[in-house]
Amino acid sequence: MKGNKRIEAARGLEFPWPPRIDLGEMSFQFHLMKTEKETGARLGKIVTAHGEFETPTFIPVGSQATIKSMTSDDLIEIGVEIISNNSYHLYLRPGHRIIEQLGGLHRFMNWNRPILTDSGGYQLFSLGQLREISKDGVTFQSHIDGSRHFINPEMAIEIQQSLGADIIMSLDECIPYPASYEYTLRSTSLTTEWARQCKEAFRGNGQALFGIVQGGMFEDLREKSARELREIGFDGYAIGGLSVGESPDIMYSMVSYTAPLLPRDNPRYLMGVGKPEDLIDAVKEGIDLFDCVIPTRNARNGMLFTSFGKLVIKNARHSTDERPIEEGCGCYTCRHYSRAYLRHLYTAREILAMRLNTIHNLYYYVQLIKGLREAIRRDNLLHFCKQWNEKREGKDDL
Ligand SMILES: [Zn+2]
Repeated sequence: MKGNKRIEAARGLEFPWPPRIDLGEMSFQFHLMKTEKETGARLGKIVTAHGEFETPTFIPVGSQATIKSMTSDDLIEIGVEIISNNSYHLYLRPGHRIIEQLGGLHRFMNWNRPILTDSGGYQLFSLGQLREISKDGVTFQSHIDGSRHFINPEMAIEIQQSLGADIIMSLDECIPYPASYEYTLRSTSLTTEWARQCKEAFRGNGQALFGIVQGGMFEDLREKSARELREIGFDGYAIGGLSVGESPDIMYSMVSYTAPLLPRDNPRYLMGVGKPEDLIDAVKEGIDLFDCVIPTRNARNGMLFTSFGKLVIKNARHSTDERPIEEGCGCYTCRHYSRAYLRHLYTAREILAMRLNTIHNLYYYVQLIKGLREAIRRDNLLHFCKQWNEKREGKDDL
């Protein structure tokens, strides 16, 4: 059997394919359950056609319709509730039409929980070569084979509707850092115009459409962007264009300035951030969603997160250490493997090193998020943060 016949035969099986779900029967919902007393931190719930989850939450990044080295069962055991895919990558390879023909992203990658797709704005500007930006859209050359492509707001929506994620993003221009006020003003207006066109092209069908606030590092442009997007009206609002090379102080001040400008009753999503300490700071400002490659990419590079700081597994001191990465960690890796073995795998460049390290780092993020939610629920977030900082103070194993 080959080609479509094999796919049809496989679909006849109950397992492993997730059932086809008519997204149109479900509508996206966000419920704000509480705001913490001493900070602006929020506890919420998001309901999608593929299940519900609490916020704040962290979204692991699977650009190519895979969280590198993880199966769906691995992710479920770790406690991952939602993942993100990237429509720029999937448009170029294997093509959104192929994924649509195969029943959409959930079925294609055997992931039956919520998915968010990024519009690809960031990749268009970071990976696309020889780009030309006009008010109509972006012309770019594929970073894979040099082929020429044109994407406009309408197409960004069409691609994401074909992929069938639960949450999709409007097309934005990701502004480089540093950028002049004039450039940032022009670019922010273009992002608003594209957001309007995305909203017009969006047909709902049970998906949620989020707008992306830009405005660079200028408060008045962040305010203008947030106001204009609110006027258009989205299911959720993202803060984009941060963690692009600015100092942590600037990033933090932009998040704390922008978050309160966003509607109270919609989820707020900080894109491309970040490190555990960034998550904690942004949760205090009322951010509900995060996505970042840091836990997974760092895992593949042998950098592991623990509650006492970072651990670099290749360091020689681990070569005879029988302890797990972190004593008391409930992840599969820490329950079964020693630092000595993980160091050996890493230095021998074994594939299993990537898997075991990724399991631990994602588990660490899931546990951190659970701790933050519990602290918000009990109105003791500041105490939680103080303890968290004290535990890891100066102990990074670098
Ligand atoms: Zn662990």
